[in-house]
Amino acid sequence: MNATRSSATAGERAALAECKGIWKRFTTDEVETVALAKVDLCIRENDFIVIHGPSGCGKSTLLSLLAMFDTPTAGTYHLKGKLANELSLDERARLRNEQIGYVFQSFNLLGHLTVFQNVELPLTWRSMKPSERKERVISVLERVGLSHRAKHYPSQLSGGQQQRVAVARAVAGSPAFILADEPTGNLDSKNAEGIMELLHQLHAEGATLIMVTHQLGFGAKATRWVRLSDGRVVSTDRQAPTPTDGIIAGTELRK
Ligand code: ADP
Ligand code: MG
Repeated sequence: MNATRSSATAGERAALAECKGIWKRFTTDEVETVALAKVDLCIRENDFIVIHGPSGCGKSTLLSLLAMFDTPTAGTYHLKGKLANELSLDERARLRNEQIGYVFQSFNLLGHLTVFQNVELPLTWRSMKPSERKERVISVLERVGLSHRAKHYPSQLSGGQQQRVAVARAVAGSPAFILADEPTGNLDSKNAEGIMELLHQLHAEGATLIMVTHQLGFGAKATRWVRLSDGRVVSTDRQAPTPTDGIIAGTELRK
């Protein structure tokens, strides 16, 4: 994508997505969980934002709202100027398919489809020629080092391989907005670095990247670090947080 977009300052770049006063409550068996509490977040085009914080603090819930898989209990969410609450399920699905590549924390691969078919599936919802689809799937599987597994089923793969397929599926359509929920969480360091290289490249080409991770070392190139705690944004940093910023050492800073 163009250099102007990448080199523009944050103030000049258009808002791609904006959360204002977002609350998300889950009620199950009379237990109410406040997963997000009054979250404000403005995401500009070509941002690379790392979202971090302890387990259960609301990171996946926030990502899922950004992709419009779910709607807030209160507050507003705009994506590309459109108010999520006013869109029908079909409109949300279309916008998601056109704009968003989502890497699920738990992969969500379809067990009855091969690796190739899993990666191809979102492309079949677009008007794309079968030959172009095939080319894209082959190329992205090569990129994540799994072309030799194209005919395998998810159950025949390790957790790390499934995660790489999940990343391939998310980016095969060259989405403008990539939401990745702990995309390196199951990978050894070599494969994790390979996936980060791919995400960095897409960001350098103009994509907007939101990544949830405990492994802050992988977010070294981020433009913003947003920390959640008990559903609230407790800090927004322009530089990678360090252990002295009060973050518990250990898994969070593991490289
Ligand atoms: P994180 O990704 O930071 O580990 P989550 O966003 O998955 O945290 O969860 C935030 C809180 O919301 C947790 O307490 C979790 O148990 C709760 N939660 C998430 N999804 C649901 C749901 N569908 N129903 C009920 N509670 C949920
Ligand atoms: Mg999570």
